[in-house]
Amino acid sequence: MAINFLSEESLLSKEELQIRDSVRSFVAKEVEPTLKQAHRTEEFPKELIPRFGELGLLGSNLEGYECPGLGDVAYGLIMQELEYADSGIRSFCSVQGALVMFPIWAYGSEELKQRYLPQLSSGEMVGCFGLTESDAGSNPGGMKTKAVAVDGGYKISGSKMWITNGNIADIAIVWAKLDGRVTGFVVDTKSKGFKAQLIEGKFSLRVSVTSELILDEVFVPEDHRLTGLDGLKAPLSCLTQARYGICFGVVGAATRCYDEALSYSSSRTIFEKPLSHYQLAQAKLVGMVQEITKAQLLCIQMGRLKEAKTLKPEQVSLVKMNNCRIALDVARDARDMLGANGIMDEYPVIRHMLNLETVNTYEGTEDIHRLVVGQAVTGAPSFR
Ligand SMILES: Cc1cc2nc3c(=O)[nH]c(=O)nc-3n(C[C@H](O)[C@H](O)[C@H](O)COP(=O)(O)OP(=O)(O)OC[C@H]3O[C@@H](n4cnc5c(N)ncnc54)[C@H](O)[C@@H]3O)c2cc1C
Repeated sequence: MAINFLSEESLLSKEELQIRDSVRSFVAKEVEPTLKQAHRTEEFPKELIPRFGELGLLGSNLEGYECPGLGDVAYGLIMQELEYADSGIRSFCSVQGALVMFPIWAYGSEELKQRYLPQLSSGEMVGCFGLTESDAGSNPGGMKTKAVAVDGGYKISGSKMWITNGNIADIAIVWAKLDGRVTGFVVDTKSKGFKAQLIEGKFSLRVSVTSELILDEVFVPEDHRLTGLDGLKAPLSCLTQARYGICFGVVGAATRCYDEALSYSSSRTIFEKPLSHYQLAQAKLVGMVQEITKAQLLCIQMGRLKEAKTLKPEQVSLVKMNNCRIALDVARDARDMLGANGIMDEYPVIRHMLNLETVNTYEGTEDIHRLVVGQAVTGAPSFR
């Protein structure tokens, strides 16, 4: 159920609403039933991948090469509906579209685009994005992974940490230093010297596959190097695409928590009346509606700027920082309103609450986005 308190839907086109509603019904019918088990066993429901492809949910705002070519707001609404179910489900689609397909689409050779984009769009192939290292997260420029030029291409050595989809990926976008400059490469995960190690025991994003990638002199042919943008600007431009989707996605997670809190508190009788009839409970529910409404409006305005091709990275930072924070706060209040039931996986609230801890951290932590906005308003970078 979407919150439409300020008639936000009047800002969306008929086509955007249709796309949102069709993804909503797919999520309810096919994604929801997989989640409890997937969360318990920390296994991604792989049977959904071809369905994501058939429904045009992978790289849906990219054009050409058999990509769906939808508008940016429609793309955002797809992310919102996927994350209504689970942040791990949305993460799969975000990584595939914004962090794997986008760099190939924007910086790959014609041959790379024709070879990989149709298969990534259909879900026949899965990709991952390796930027972070165990000692280089908020400061990716500190990466140690290196590429050296050899006959016909490059050899890459190093390791990447916390990589979504790592163990199920056919290709990896790996960022490595070539002559001291951060450079992107499309790496076949079956290449000699490439290994993906599953990271188990997460309390958050358990439905998503997270891995360490180890590269030991992995050969990458010359035409698998990404070109066009120099240095860190290239991976950061991909992250801006993915963060854009996160801004919408977390509205979905927050809305789900609100829906659960409203329905639970309406049927839970405490003393002599339903919980939702108490003033303190209403204050919590109203706080949720208030913050989700603001977050939705931020998303729609941000989406229209993206469609007009005027969206700046710091504007995405402001929305990512705001929407992740409010989603976490909504999830925590919702968890509280469910009392003891709120800690059980019979209800999705605690799963969302724990997932949102990751979403607030990955793709730039809340602090880092605050510093990005701080630099935009003062002109002074204060990252170091
Ligand atoms: C489940 C999961 C999936 C992920 N998927 C991917 C993926 O697919 N690909 C990928 O490349 N990475 C991925 N990441 C990595 C993620 O992007 C990083 O964890 C994130 O950028 C933060 O880096 P870090 O963990 O090293 O934290 P750190 O950079 O060590 O930060 C620790 C703390 O220090 C704060 N901090 C950092 N710099 C400053 C500063 N200048 N001033 C004040 N405080 C500061 C941070 O805000 C944070 O609170 C994933 C992470 C998780 C948890």
